[in-house]
Amino acid sequence: MEVKSAYIHIPFCVRICTYCDFNKYFIHNQPVDEYLDCLIKEMCDSEVRVLETVFVGGGTPTALSYKQLKRLLIAITDIFEIKGEFSFEANPDELTLEKVQLLKDFGVNRLSMGVQTFKPELLEILGRTHHTTDIYQAVTNARAVGIPSISLDLMYHLPQQTLEDFKDSLEKALAMDIDHISSYGLILEPKTQFQT
Ligand code: SF4
Repeated sequence: MEVKSAYIHIPFCVRICTYCDFNKYFIHNQPVDEYLDCLIKEMCDSEVRVLETVFVGGGTPTALSYKQLKRLLIAITDIFEIKGEFSFEANPDELTLEKVQLLKDFGVNRLSMGVQTFKPELLEILGRTHHTTDIYQAVTNARAVGIPSISLDLMYHLPQQTLEDFKDSLEKALAMDIDHISSYGLILEPKTQFQT
């Protein structure tokens, strides 16, 4: 049997990071509800009904309001039967207990968190919205509601980042007994704040 998986893109963020060249838009004044209307219609039009895995990425899916997130989750789970991994990308400061409980209630079983670094000065340079304490709180919240798998993204080759800085972030992530860690080297892309 052919295996089917889906990637669902939510192209909104509450702030645009200095290095980002992904397909994303500053969420303020964007037609988010209309985007969800179109997305849900497209999912309904799909002939596929059973999926092995679903990954909801962005942008930042957790930038949606609680109500919008619930609407999206209802649609995904009404339309598709998800057999295996159901992943959501998330920013640490947006993983409130309320939102993470909602994700868990609709069967999300993996969170991929954009941590990037534990060093406050580097988070500032990257233009991230979260603080180091948010990372610990987000992991605590996810574990409290029983999300079974947590993945963290880390970045290296950042301006002013030393090898010790990266090792420190890696050690802090490992100390939390995280299920999966991805690390990415910074690429300076044209038309990002880093390059203009
Ligand atoms: S949160 Fe992710 S997608 Fe959004 S601006 Fe930052 S790097 Fe880009």
